[in-house]
Amino acid sequence: MIQAATSNDLFLRAQNSIPGGVNSPVRAFKAVGGNPRFMVSAKGAYMFDEDGNKFIDLINSWGPMILGHASELVQKAVQDAIPNSLSFGAPTRKEIEIAELIVSMVPSIEKVRMVNSGTEATMSAIRVARGYTGRDKIIKFEGCYHGHGDSFLISAGSGAITLGVPDSPGVTKGTANDTLTAPFNNLEAVQTLVEANKGQVAAIILEPVAGNMGLVTPADGFLQGLRSICDKEGIVLIFDEVMTGFRLARGGAQELYGVTPDLSTLGKIIGGGMPVGAYGGKKELMDYVAPAGPVYQAGTLSGNPIAMSAGMAMLTYLNEHPEVYTQLDHTAGKMVAGMQQNLEQSGHKFTINRVGSMFSIFFTDQPVNDFESAKTSDTAMFGRYFNAMLQRGIYLAPSQYETLFVSTSITEDLVEQYVQASIESIKEALEA
Ligand code: PMP
Repeated sequence: MIQAATSNDLFLRAQNSIPGGVNSPVRAFKAVGGNPRFMVSAKGAYMFDEDGNKFIDLINSWGPMILGHASELVQKAVQDAIPNSLSFGAPTRKEIEIAELIVSMVPSIEKVRMVNSGTEATMSAIRVARGYTGRDKIIKFEGCYHGHGDSFLISAGSGAITLGVPDSPGVTKGTANDTLTAPFNNLEAVQTLVEANKGQVAAIILEPVAGNMGLVTPADGFLQGLRSICDKEGIVLIFDEVMTGFRLARGGAQELYGVTPDLSTLGKIIGGGMPVGAYGGKKELMDYVAPAGPVYQAGTLSGNPIAMSAGMAMLTYLNEHPEVYTQLDHTAGKMVAGMQQNLEQSGHKFTINRVGSMFSIFFTDQPVNDFESAKTSDTAMFGRYFNAMLQRGIYLAPSQYETLFVSTSITEDLVEQYVQASIESIKEALEA
C-alpha cells in the first residue's frame, strides 16, 4: 500500500496558488480519482515521491526520458554547459551542431528552427504553411493533440478530452472556423473537406502515429494517401512528431512508415528533459521564416545553451546507438504480449495498440483506429486499473487518452513486474 499523506497535503496547498494545483492539466488525477503524487527525484526506471514511495515510471516525463531518468550522459552535458552562462541571446556553435544533427536524422528536415515547446513548434509550423500558401484553413484529426495553440483546441485529444473540453472556451469563432476536422484514418473525409474548401487549405497536420487519444496507428495507405492529396492540391503536409520523433526510429514515424512530410514538428526527446521544441522541413518552406523570410517567429530563450547541450547529448547517443530502438521494441513487445496472453485466457474485453515503445490498453471489444472507437473504452474501468497499478508501484498516465512510453531502463525483471501487476490490477478493477 503506498503512502499518500504528504502528497495529499501538498496538493491541498498547491490548489491555493496554482490553478487546479498543477502546472499542466495532464498531471491531475481528475479522470482516475485521487490526488497526484508529488515527486522528489528519479533515477533510471524509478520515480520517488514526497511520501517515500518508489514507482516504476512508464510515462517518462510524457516521453522525453527515453534513456530513463537522470541519464548520466545528458546530466554531464548540462553540467559542463552551466559555467559558460545559462543564456546568451546570441548565436552559438552548439545551435549549428544540433541543427546539422537533426537535419541528418529526420528525413523531411533540410532546415530547422529551435523553439521552447511542442506547442510553439506546431503554432509556428502552421503559420509557415499559411504564409507560404497564402491560404487560411488547416485540417486536423479528431483526437489528435498538437499543444495548446488556439487553432488546435478543436476536437483535441490528451488532457483536453480527458477533462471533457476538446473545444476550449477562449478560442474565437474565427480561429475555430479555420480548423477543419476529420476522423483519423479516414482519407475519404479528408478528400471531401479538401474539395469543399478548394484552394483554401494551407496544411494538413497530424500525429503520424496518434498518441493523444490513447495510441492509434495509421491504417495501411493512410499516410501515403495524405501525401498524395497534399501533392495534388498544393497543401503543406505537417507531421507532428513531438511524441514520435526520435522515439519510433532515429528519424521518427516518417522514417518508420517511409512517408516524408513537408514540415515536421519535434519536442520532448529533442531536449533530453529540458524545455525544447523544433520545427523544420523543406528549405523552400523554412526560408519563409524570419529573418530569412517574412513569416515572423522568435524566442528570447530559443536555442538556449543548456537545453541545446542536453538535446545534443541525447540525440548524439540515439544517432550512434540504433540498437536502442530494437531494444525498446522488444521490451514493449514483451510487456504487451505478457498481458495479452493472460487477458485472452480470462476472456476479458480489451484492445492493445502498440508501435515500438509506445502502447495503450483500451477496455473495449472493438478495434481502436480513430477517436470514436477510442471513446468506446470503459474509462471507469481504466480509472480502477490505474489506481490498482499505482498501489502496486507502477506509475501510468492518469488517463485513458494517453500512451505509455517505455524507456531503456525497463529491464526484463521490470517487464515481469509490470505484467504481473497488470494482470492483478485488471482482475481487481473488474471485481470492483
Ligand atoms: N504535439 C504532440 C503530438 C504532443 O503530444 C504534445 C504534448 N504532449 C504537443 C504537441 C505539445 O507539446 P508541449 O506540451 O511541449 O507544448
